[in-house]
Order: sequence, then structure tokens, then C-alpha cells
Amino acid sequence: MSISSRPQRGRAGGAVRSSHYSRSASSRRHGASGARTQGRPTHHGGARTRSRGGYNSSRRAQGRPQQRGRRKDAPIDISRFINENVAPNATPDVYEPIHTFSDFALLPQLAQAVAHKGYVTPTPIQDKTIPHILRGCDIVGLANTGSGKTAAFLIPLIQKLLLVPDEQILVLAPTRELALQIEEEFVGLTRSLRLHSVVLVGGMPIGPQMRRLRSHNHLIVGTPGRVMDLMERRSLSLAHTKTVVLDEADRMLDMGFIGDMRTILATMSQSRHTLFFSATLSKEIEKLVHEFLCDPVTVSVRTRDTSKNVHQSVIKVNGRDKVDILHELLVQKDFGKVIVFGRTKHGVEKLSRLLSKRGIKSESIHGNKTHNQRVRSLEAFKRGRAQALIATDVAARGLDIPNVSHVINFDLPGTHDDYIHRIGRTGRADKSGFAITLVD
Ligand code: ADP
Ligand code: MG
Repeated sequence: MSISSRPQRGRAGGAVRSSHYSRSASSRRHGASGARTQGRPTHHGGARTRSRGGYNSSRRAQGRPQQRGRRKDAPIDISRFINENVAPNATPDVYEPIHTFSDFALLPQLAQAVAHKGYVTPTPIQDKTIPHILRGCDIVGLANTGSGKTAAFLIPLIQKLLLVPDEQILVLAPTRELALQIEEEFVGLTRSLRLHSVVLVGGMPIGPQMRRLRSHNHLIVGTPGRVMDLMERRSLSLAHTKTVVLDEADRMLDMGFIGDMRTILATMSQSRHTLFFSATLSKEIEKLVHEFLCDPVTVSVRTRDTSKNVHQSVIKVNGRDKVDILHELLVQKDFGKVIVFGRTKHGVEKLSRLLSKRGIKSESIHGNKTHNQRVRSLEAFKRGRAQALIATDVAARGLDIPNVSHVINFDLPGTHDDYIHRIGRTGRADKSGFAITLVD
């Protein structure tokens, strides 16, 4: 997956540059004038020049899980952070689903729950995977973020739980927030179905999780670290768990969870049902598929780049104070719901405080915060009580926050994959979004 569009020469520079900042023509002009006097958005050529210097990805993203793992070492080419020739209102690729939810022969109570959730038409990944999952096939599902993967596995697995109530399903996810989001979707889809679930994630006291594990849970959602921990304490046994979902498997691999994943899967039945979801398909991911799945059906609905909905540009810092540049952006019209990515936990916290002092309502999210603090920050941002969410890469993948207007890379991401995941927080659900990267 790459940012396909090349910077286009020959377009009117002013119009192109100004359009980084906002959606409407009038605010575009406003944005342009503001930006030019400050951190100048670079011209395409400028970005190319800069890119020769490259950027080494050995800088690590912060957060506990990242520290466990390795990062890819490909240098970053900053010209790939620009796609100004993409018209935000370009006609979206239209996918014609083959099925409706009623074609899946879901049990009436489940069909009702799906309808109640407001899902009328299956998303492409749901359309193509649900029939296979219902038949019990192993699946490799490749789809962009925001494409409805969670319900793609939850709906058929809930059907399985309703048919075989002794079943227990394990979902492994890379981050606590994702695990919580998955459980939230499960709860939303199983109201009045009497199915129980538990979330096993770090950053929360382990005692209550141990207690919850004494009774039967139909769904266990957890991060590999905490799941391992509970297995080692003998609170959790997966000997009878015959279904496992590896969600965002590429991210788990990046975060160094591969050892934990292997150990966890090894304790499960050989004849298990394994579902594997990933946004990317690298050689390493293929190896994992081979190792963990049995004769899987591969479904890819990566019909378009996640980044196609996102208007991407860079601003050259030119020795100015980056906080000033950020501040000047945030006070502009249309910067209503902005995620700002920083590199370190400390830097993110400091930036959030600085912005708050300057009167910009900001929240921060990073690995040094307790779980409850992270949930509170996220809620404040989701509900519009904060304009800016300052985050480390922990927030880059999977999180589904509606209507994020802009993603700003205050610090460069470590890899292009991280870049794609960061900017994927905006431009979701066929809306357009804006990504701005500050470069030295
Ligand atoms: P992914 O895991 O692919 O990143 P999510 O599962 O988080 O995507 O889903 C993204 C959003 O789409 C969520 O807000 C979810 O409620 C919504 N969604 C999922 N399936 C459907 C559907 N069939 N119809 C409408 N909205 C859906
Ligand atoms: Mg997901």
C-alpha cells in the first residue's frame, strides 16, 4: 500500500498550497495567507529536495509495546507525504455488495441486533468474508482501516456462539484501545443475547480480570502481553478455545508481539478456526499466515489507498518554533478535530500542556498514562470537549474516531506504514480529510 499519487507539477501553486488547510474555498484563502507568513507549506519541488536527505526510521515510536519490537529500517521519502493532485471530492470507488445481511441466513435475533446497530448493507470486507467465516473457513482478510473489519468477524462469530454456546472465542489486538473498541462493538451487537465478554489488557488492575475469568466468557479480547500474563498465572487456559481472531496482525508483528502470539496459539487446539486481519501484506505477514492458518481463503478489498481520501501536504519548518506553527494552524477555521502525532511520550505530554496554556483545548494519549486517563482523554476528544488530541503512535492504528478533520505530524513518523496509519485517522468512511506533516 503506498501513497500512489505523485506530486503534480504545473498546477497553480497558490491554489494547491492553500488547499492544505481547509475545505471550503473561503477558508482556504484564509488558511493560505496564514500559512505563508509562517511555516510555509512546501512546494512539491522543495519536498523532493528535502527527501534526498531522507529520514532514518531508527527513531522509535514510543509506548511500551513498541519497545518490545523492532522497526523497519526503510528511509522515509518525504515527497510521499504529498498528494496535492488528489481532489478531495473525487468520485469514490463504488463497491456493489453481492449480499445483503439477510442473505447470510443469520439467526433472527442476530439479524435484529445487526439492524438495530444500524448496519443495512455489508461493507466490502463483510460482504466477502462473512459467508466463508460462517462456513468455518480460515480467513486472511486484507482491508483498509475503517472498512468494518470488526463486524466482519464478530457477526459470523456471534452466530457461532449462539449455535454452540460452549464456544469461546479469543480476539488478539495490538493495543488496549483497540481491544476495548472490539468489545464495545461485541456488546453493541449482542444486547439481550446473553453472551458474556471480557477485556484483558495491560494498564488496568489484573485482579478484576482474573476474577472475570473464573466464569465462562464467550468472547475474550486482549492484547498479547496481558493474555500471556494471565496464562502464566494460570487464570486463563485456552485449551478449549477453538476460535481465534488476530486483528491488525501486521501491527502486532511490528510491535514485537510475535513471540507472544506464537506461544498463545500453541496452547490452542490444532484444529482451531483462525481469522487473520491485516491492512498490509508483507513477506513477513505471509509467513505468519502460513504458520498460523490452515488452507485459508484470502480476501482482499484494498481497492483504494486509505490515503486517497486524505489530502496530504507538508509544511517546512525553516527553523521556526514548531509549536508556533502548530498553534497558528489550530486557530484556523476548520481545524475542528485534530490529531497531532508526536514521537515521544514526554514530548506529547509537554506539547499538550503547552497548547492548553495557549488556550487550545488539548488532550494527550500515550503509553505513560494510566488506562483510565487514556480512556478519559479519548472520550473528551471524541465528544468534542477537546479540539486537539496529541498522541504517540499508540493512537495511530485502528482507532475509529469519527470526523477527525486533520492529522498533523508534529514529528515525523518512523516508517511509511506508520504514516499511512496515522493519516488513516482522518478521511474515514468516504469522507475527505487533511494530513499535514511538519518537516525540517
Ligand atoms: P476497521 O476495523 O476495518 O478499521 P471498524 O470495524 O472499526 O473498521 O469499523 C469502522 C466503522 O464502520 C465503525 O464506526 C463501524 O460501526 C462502522 N460499520 C461497520 N460495519 C458497518 C456497516 N455494515 N454499515 C455501516 N457502518 C458500519
Ligand atoms: Mg479494526
